[in-house]
Amino acid sequence: MPDARLDALLSLVSDYYREVERDRGLLENALAVNSAELEELYARLRERTEAERAIFRSFTNAVPDLFFVKSGQGVYRGCNPAFERMLGLREEQVIGRTVHDVLPHAMAEEITRIERQVIESGKPDLREQWIEVPHGEERCLEMLRAPYFAVDGSPLGLIGIGRDVTDRRRLEEQTRLAALVYQSTGEGMLVTDADWRIVDINPAGERITGYEAAEILGRTPEFFNSGQQDRAFYEAMRESVDRTGHWHGEVSDRRRSGEPHTKSVVVNRLAGAEGSVQGYVMLFSDITEKKQADELIWKQANRDMLTGLLNRRMLRERLENEIRQSDRSRCSLGVLLIDLDHFKEINDTLGHLVGDNLLKEAARRISACTRETDAIARLGGDEFIVLLTRLTDPRQAEKVASKIIARLAEPFQLGEAVGYISASVGITLYPQDAREVEDLLKSADQAMYVAKRQGRNRFSRFTQGLQTAAQERLRMVGDLRKAVADASFHLNFQPIVDVATGQIHKAEALVRWDHPVRGLVAPEEFIPIAEETGLIVPIGDWVFHQAARWAARWRSIVPGFQVTVNVSPVQFRSEAAASRESWVGRMQDLALERDALILEITEGLLLHADTDVTSALGALRGAGLGIAVDDFGTGYSSLAYLHRFDVDFLKIDQAFVASLGTSESNATLCEAIIVMAHKLGLKVVAEGVETEAQADLLRKAHCDAMQGFLFSRPIPPEQLEAILRHGAQVR
Ligand code: C2E
Ligand code: CA
Ligand code: CA
Repeated sequence: MPDARLDALLSLVSDYYREVERDRGLLENALAVNSAELEELYARLRERTEAERAIFRSFTNAVPDLFFVKSGQGVYRGCNPAFERMLGLREEQVIGRTVHDVLPHAMAEEITRIERQVIESGKPDLREQWIEVPHGEERCLEMLRAPYFAVDGSPLGLIGIGRDVTDRRRLEEQTRLAALVYQSTGEGMLVTDADWRIVDINPAGERITGYEAAEILGRTPEFFNSGQQDRAFYEAMRESVDRTGHWHGEVSDRRRSGEPHTKSVVVNRLAGAEGSVQGYVMLFSDITEKKQADELIWKQANRDMLTGLLNRRMLRERLENEIRQSDRSRCSLGVLLIDLDHFKEINDTLGHLVGDNLLKEAARRISACTRETDAIARLGGDEFIVLLTRLTDPRQAEKVASKIIARLAEPFQLGEAVGYISASVGITLYPQDAREVEDLLKSADQAMYVAKRQGRNRFSRFTQGLQTAAQERLRMVGDLRKAVADASFHLNFQPIVDVATGQIHKAEALVRWDHPVRGLVAPEEFIPIAEETGLIVPIGDWVFHQAARWAARWRSIVPGFQVTVNVSPVQFRSEAAASRESWVGRMQDLALERDALILEITEGLLLHADTDVTSALGALRGAGLGIAVDDFGTGYSSLAYLHRFDVDFLKIDQAFVASLGTSESNATLCEAIIVMAHKLGLKVVAEGVETEAQADLLRKAHCDAMQGFLFSRPIPPEQLEAILRHGAQVR
């Protein structure tokens, strides 16, 4: 709306023109009277006109609004400097022209229409108009157009007064947009007064916090604190905002529902007049999900997903760091490699879900045995690494290892079932045993391997001796390769006695290695190496072929005589298929009848049997080979499990036999196993029978056959043949 100044200007201009018109009337009258009077009147008129014009000029020059005068035909009669500035034209360039000469066509048309209306109606027109000024800029003008009249009241022309309200309009537009954003954005916004008391919160803010504005007005932002931030946190935030004008960071808050969430927050100070603080605006968004996603990504890259422990990659990094730390602190660093014993059995029999739960629980137990500063990693499978930092005494590592072993030996509650496992731990120290990451891990592995070989459920400390043993092993592999090529093996046979007749009716083939330097090497020493290197396949073939030859011979002496042959699980892999076929060929060549040869397989092979193993076993059995499960009673020992395979014999392990005399319950258990085996159609052979007492118990338990030093040690085949020729009686 035009203010009082505009009104004043408007009436002044109208008065002026009215007077000019009146004076013109007077002038015309005077012309008709005499010249002297005319002269005088003219002078007076000029003087007054000049004076009026001067006042008018100074007035129109002074006002910031633009101003112009037009004739009734729309021709510019004059304009003020504000007009000149806006349109970039001087008054001389404007006078005598129309709006079509100064503004673009469409705009000029519109203005012409409005002005004609003003003249015709005799009424002023007030409106806002965006006009295009030079350089393509648009300005918003609040335009007042008013007619001026002759003395008789007839319209003479019009004046225009325009106020540039562009900045105000733009500000209003911005405010309107800001308000729209404030209301509709997904970002939470919160406004506080200078004392940090909340004066407003937008709908998104209400949604994120769960509070309605009315509930939190007058409170401070600390109100949302989940308890994660202390007083110092907020003080530091306020200090920063007051010093720099803003702050941003993450805040852990609590929703109205009590649910914790993470916000990304930006705080800005609202400056009032003269540097005073008017208040603060907080912009915040809920980043809980993003944070969780980020954490997940970080974890996936650095953590073992199952247990949350470090993964192999992070372990290496940590180990490198700890090595540097240890150099500085001059303390030792302990590396424990923990391998769970018999984990695979549990995993295979109770399922992966149970196995996973056991691993998680094992991880928790291991963690509970270590300090905050130690690092724990899972290498995958059932292998864990513990880094013990800042060891002042190497014996501390052994103490922790004992503690971990004891904790892991405790029963695991696995849903309905209770599981038992144990752990074998290898210990290496930095810098005593090795100095490089790779070597540390390798020597821990060697030490762990020794713990396994010594019977599991124990730890072993890496020693230089182990290092030598490792080198020794390497030499052995070379020697073994050569032995395979030269066939420097021989077989011994251990008689197996039929309980019913007391006669030797079977014999187990046991391989011996004739080492050129070391002499006789026991199978316990070289079979594991042969298995790891795959050399067991050609060795096993040699054993089978020899054993088959002897079986054919002995069956002609003792009808139905059987020879048993130990077979490693490695020989059941698909790569060894050709080898297994050669056994069948050999049996046909020798015209061996069914069950002349029995394969002694391990329980483990059945436990981990995949379809390949199952079909290989089926094929061998179909070709006439008997199957015996060796070392029964040491591993998982499930008769029900054995039932799923076509097995002929069960060989009760010597450790189990040795325990027979020691307690009543062992004897009962032994009897139970035998009864169950018979029910499943299996014959039972007890091995490692050393005493008459054991033999007695086994006889009473209806064991089918016995083998052990009580009857005979393994002997050369020629010696066994002599016994067989003399009635096959051992005693
Ligand atoms: P195994 O299959 O359990 O063989 C029985 C082992 O117990 C033999 O040891 C035998 O000498 C020993 N033994 C027999 N009676 C008694 C006894 O009354 N008391 C004691 N303390 N021990 C007794 P050996 O010949 O040293 O063989 C050790 C292991 O090497 C065998 O255990 C078997 O697993 C493996 N092995 C032997 N020959 C072969 C083979 O040709 N192929 C494969 N894959 N493994 C073989
Ligand atoms: Ca055996
Ligand atoms: Ca055995």
